This record gives sequence, structure tokens and C-alpha cells, in this order.
Amino acid sequence: MPTEKPTEKPIYNVHAHAWDQTLHIDPATRAEADRSRGRPMDLTVDFEQFMEEEAAHFAKTVVFGAKARRTGYWVPDEYIAEFVGRAPDKLIGFAACDPTQEGALAELRHGIEQLGLRGVKMMPMYAGFDPRDERCQPIYAYCQDQGLPILFHSGTTFNQNAPLGFTRPWLWDEVGMRYPELRMVLAHVGHPFGEECLVVIRKHPHVYADISALFYRPWQFYNMLIAAQEYNVTSKLLFGTDYPFAKGQESINGLRNANHIIGNSGLPRVTEATIDGILYRDIPALLGIA
Ligand SMILES: [Zn+2]
Repeated sequence: MPTEKPTEKPIYNVHAHAWDQTLHIDPATRAEADRSRGRPMDLTVDFEQFMEEEAAHFAKTVVFGAKARRTGYWVPDEYIAEFVGRAPDKLIGFAACDPTQEGALAELRHGIEQLGLRGVKMMPMYAGFDPRDERCQPIYAYCQDQGLPILFHSGTTFNQNAPLGFTRPWLWDEVGMRYPELRMVLAHVGHPFGEECLVVIRKHPHVYADISALFYRPWQFYNMLIAAQEYNVTSKLLFGTDYPFAKGQESINGLRNANHIIGNSGLPRVTEATIDGILYRDIPALLGIA
């Protein structure tokens, strides 16, 4: 049975990666990705393929690389600017920032002011810093002043050297209090700390979470969505895929089929209003990148 509905309203995707694994990802980290999936993975994102199997499903897709020296990710902002520059009406490029590295703010300013990137990706656990770290403060202040959203990795990973202690969603509560106007997105609803993430986004008007790369753990995904309904925070959940780890159509289907896991058990259901609300949310307007 096809699960796709006719789409009249635009769908936005807040989370997709672009990189060349041979240039931008350390071989040891690639080997960990292979082990986590139990098969060799080619993480390299080919532009034409990306436009066809990912960007085609969305009105606009936010694209970023990654910078985390500690775990061997380094995608120059120039690479992302060039990538999104090939389809500027469909793609929104974010810079990446590793505040543990010297000159991080100057590099970020170059990415925004010279290369025209529109937001920032940060990866505390991969880069080895606490989101409350003093080295982050000039970055957060700049982003708040400039109206730049920051999308953070939050939640677990397969990389051994990425400390779990820097990824718990509650760490962003303090950042939200200190920078109340800063738009922040906590990726993957902080899996498996979903409820912890929901109570953070509930408190802070400008802190959101994206549901990327969660549908393929259907029991956890279902429970997170039910908890979001009970806390009345589904309006803070944004759609994303985490390409190439998960792709457009399967991610859309995964959300639409969130109730499949419960069958006719009588358990509470994720409502159509919740699902449509997430799918059709105007992400660029909320994040100030329209
Ligand atoms: Zn990601």
C-alpha cells in the first residue's frame, strides 16, 4: 500500500549532511560507522543523487557538514557554500563550528559574512565540549545578535571517543536561559533522552528539536511522540532526515506510520494533527531563515 499522500503544503527538512568521506571524515570514524550499521557504508553525498532522492521531497532543505576535530569530522564551510550554491532556491547552507579550535569565531564569521551561510551546526559530544563551555559564549552571543539559528547534535552516537556527558539535553537549559533570543534546534530529540529533551524545548520559546533519524527505532519514536503530545510540545518538533543516514521518503513515511508499532492494542495514538503539524511546519519562518 502506498503511504504517500498528495502533498499540497510544503515540507521543510532542517537536517541533511553533505560531505566527501575521503576528504572530510577520518578513516577510524568511518570504520566506526560501518560497525554501527554492520555493513560498509559510503557516506559521501553526491550532489545529483542528493537532489533526486532527498531535496526533491522538500520545499527547502537545510544542509551542513560537520566540524569536530576530536572525532575526525572536518567539512570546510566553502564546501557547503559551493554545494548549496548549485541549487540556491532549494538548499539553505549552515556553517559548522568547533569552538575548541583556535579562531573558531573568526572562521564562523567568514562562513556567514563572506560565504553567505545562514545558520550554524555544532556537535558538542563529537568535538568534546560541554554546551555551556565558556568557549561557546562568543559564538552564542554572535549568533543571537545576528539572528542565526544553531542546530546542535544531541543524543547518542556510535563514535567511541565522543563523551556522552556532553550530549544530555538538559545541558541546553542553561544556554536557553542565558540567550533567550537564540534560536536553537536539538537534533534527534536527544535520543534516547527524548523526554529530557522535551522538557527543555517546553521551557524555552526559541528552542526546538528535530525528529531526524528516529523513525527506524519505532518503539522509541512512538513513545517520544506520545510524550510530546502529553507535554503539549509537538509544535516545537521540526522535521528532518539526517541524510545520508536516513533519507527523505522513508523519513516522511516513518512519521506518517508512527502508529504502526501499536497495531490495534488500544494504546494512545499519535494524532493526525501531530503528524501533519510536524510535517508541514514552516521551519524557515520559525528559525528566521526564510
Ligand atoms: Zn546529523
